[in-house]
Amino acid sequence: MRSSQKHFGTCRICGVDKELSYEHVPPRIAFNKTTRHVSVPHDEWTKIDNFLEYKPKGKILQGGIGYYSLCRDCNSFLGQNYVKAYEQWVLTGIQIISKYKVDYFNYVALQQEPLKILKQIISMFIAMNDKWYLEEYPELASFVKDPNSNILPDKFRVFAYLNNQGQYRYFKHGVISQPGLGIINATELAFPPFGYVLTFDFAHDISHFQNITSFKSYKLGEKADVEMFLYKLPTYLPFSPLDYRSKDKIDADTKASR
Ligand SMILES: [Zn+2]
Repeated sequence: MRSSQKHFGTCRICGVDKELSYEHVPPRIAFNKTTRHVSVPHDEWTKIDNFLEYKPKGKILQGGIGYYSLCRDCNSFLGQNYVKAYEQWVLTGIQIISKYKVDYFNYVALQQEPLKILKQIISMFIAMNDKWYLEEYPELASFVKDPNSNILPDKFRVFAYLNNQGQYRYFKHGVISQPGLGIINATELAFPPFGYVLTFDFAHDISHFQNITSFKSYKLGEKADVEMFLYKLPTYLPFSPLDYRSKDKIDADTKASR
């Protein structure tokens, strides 16, 4: 939540130490203007016995989810360069997901600007992760900072799915052990209508994910009709990355493990 006190720190995009402004993740215009959410410390989640019955007692925050992680200049840079294109992308997602009650979509989005969309998605991952991110993966910030840049090294891959069931998921970079796939370094963001996963040094495809990394190869301002298959996946457990089990399945698994 936005607060009146000043926040100083290192901007995750330009790397300069200065006053940080509140960066909405996703942007306000992508239906994150008045989002109510509950702030629960991460360690509290780890003590919960049954997530589905859990009612968070944390403070209710209003005004959209975000982070004090970017300076005002970088914040407005994103607003001026990428947010409009991202809004178009999200509007199409909302339309499609509310119109069809299925879990697998032949997703068609006309006249999109893929390069800008991808840069906005990467900037959201930068904003929600900590300062070490810029030091460890400066290529991400470089890709975002230069609107014309098509340079996003192959070790980074971005995946997408549709999402409108469950909870918001803001999973900071972590090491995830995934049955059948092994160890994955990734960070995940789910906020309807989309969920995204950014992986590091992971060469395989992940079932039910659509790889959208090729968005990086479009020219700045180039519009394209994007057509692809997208799954709609639920995210009931906010701190359990890559977990898309249904409510019933989580319930059954919880009972079985007792
Ligand atoms: Zn900055």
